[in-house]
Amino acid sequence: MVEMLLFASPGSMLPAAVAGLLGLLIGSFLNVVIHRIPKMMQRESDNYVAQETGKPLPHQDRYNLTVPRSACPQCGHQITALENIPVVSYLALRGKCSQCKTPISPRYPLVELMTGALSAFLVWHFGSGLAGMAALLFTWLLIALTFIDADTKLLPDDLTLLLLWCGLLVNLNGTFVPLQDAVIGAAAGYLALWTVYWAFKLATGKEGMGYGDFKLLAALGAWMGWTMLPLIILLSSLVGAVVGITMIVASKRGRDNPIPFGPYLAAAGLIALIYGKPLVQTYLNFPL
Ligand SMILES: [Zn+2]
Repeated sequence: MVEMLLFASPGSMLPAAVAGLLGLLIGSFLNVVIHRIPKMMQRESDNYVAQETGKPLPHQDRYNLTVPRSACPQCGHQITALENIPVVSYLALRGKCSQCKTPISPRYPLVELMTGALSAFLVWHFGSGLAGMAALLFTWLLIALTFIDADTKLLPDDLTLLLLWCGLLVNLNGTFVPLQDAVIGAAAGYLALWTVYWAFKLATGKEGMGYGDFKLLAALGAWMGWTMLPLIILLSSLVGAVVGITMIVASKRGRDNPIPFGPYLAAAGLIALIYGKPLVQTYLNFPL
């Protein structure tokens, strides 16, 4: 069974290797996206508040995904091109800033490695046609969303809505599912979590999740169609329960400390995109 899942529709190795290298570079860019988008959102809202209240703007310097150049947060040393090679530079620098020797978080090379490995696997699995390229875009956006949510408990509209539109466009020709399933999937995904949110809020007076989660599940529905939504919700709850229980046992977080749901939705979405069809088939064929 595992072999059948892992070795379904293998492609050739060369495109996969190219995708792996591209993935390392994209992973390096995703590190910038993960770090800067929440800061860009904060600046936007600071400036808006300042404008409304007639106070001087707190942020006048340009700050976006390309400006300013990346620098060491400790000493301000600008990262050179040589120090910016995915994974390799981190190892060559032994995980420290070249000037002040402040340790660099191992998360940077890990995000690069993860993006590279997943990119290679996806092109090997889906081939280098439209489905493979679309799967890459899907996964890169999910990686960015996962880490932004883990860091800030936010799922920025810029990314969730982009993912949603891309899912609908990719399925114009039925790349993953017929367009009709994709449109219903987007609406049903949003409504499913919106309903859970309000039921939970009316019952307990607490907010169990955020609107970003509804939009993320809507996006996953747009990519994989409404038929995949129950599997995605089941998988994300399973992953979430395992991680949540582990964290409570390790007592890193208390029970009352909410755990962001986005990373589990993202992980479930990726599993469903790759293995959803055989998983649903296995489930439907399960003798009762
Ligand atoms: Zn430094």
